[in-house]
Amino acid sequence: MSVNVAENVANIKMRVRQACERSGRAIDDVRIIAVTKYVSVATAKQAVEAGIADIGENRIEGALEKAAAIGQARLHFVGSLQSRKVKNIVNVVSCIHSLDRLSLAKEIDKRLEPGKTIDCFVQVNVSGEQSKNGLSPDEVRPFINELAAYPAVRVIGLMTMAPFEQDAERTRPIFSKLRELRDQIKADKLSSAPCTELSMGMSNDFEVAIEEGATFIRLGTSLVGKEES
Ligand SMILES: *Cc1c(COP(=O)(O)O)cnc(C)c1O
Repeated sequence: MSVNVAENVANIKMRVRQACERSGRAIDDVRIIAVTKYVSVATAKQAVEAGIADIGENRIEGALEKAAAIGQARLHFVGSLQSRKVKNIVNVVSCIHSLDRLSLAKEIDKRLEPGKTIDCFVQVNVSGEQSKNGLSPDEVRPFINELAAYPAVRVIGLMTMAPFEQDAERTRPIFSKLRELRDQIKADKLSSAPCTELSMGMSNDFEVAIEEGATFIRLGTSLVGKEES
């Protein structure tokens, strides 16, 4: 099914604005990442032309393919990342949302061009579902302290995926828990981990995530649709 990306972008931006108004937040504090894993390069380009400045991919191949086509837009890696593949993308993406182990941080630090740093989110499994990646909330602070050994890795925030709920309202405790954790780490004022950001909210639950403080929302189907491959 082909979708009108520009129309979706306008519609989503309106919903983002309303969620910001409901929660007394500034609209500029919420960045929309178009997750293009189910769509073609051409559709990703349409999103950029419609004013989306952030593109997300969860596979190496998809990330490389889109990177070549999206011009100045920033590329976010949002999928689980194998250490041996870090070298293929670490100098291509602007941001990694799935940092969940020290071995991965070590590899990022090793493979990034000398002198550079890369913005990362630590992925947290707030819901505790078996199927989800990420650290348990208790593990996050000690993990972030240990990350100081890898200076190329800059922890800008925390990321989570909420379980799919028919009623998005039920995801609220997940998002508020991530925000509380972010606030604790932010208060530590580590130079390697400013931790000011929250990557949370997908097509089904982004409005609740915004009300709970999301600064990056990751939208796939609601923004760019899903194409047969
Ligand atoms: C696919 C994906 C999304 C977007 O999912 P939608 O429900 O289509 O909006 C967001 N975050 C991650 C990590 C994803 O893999």
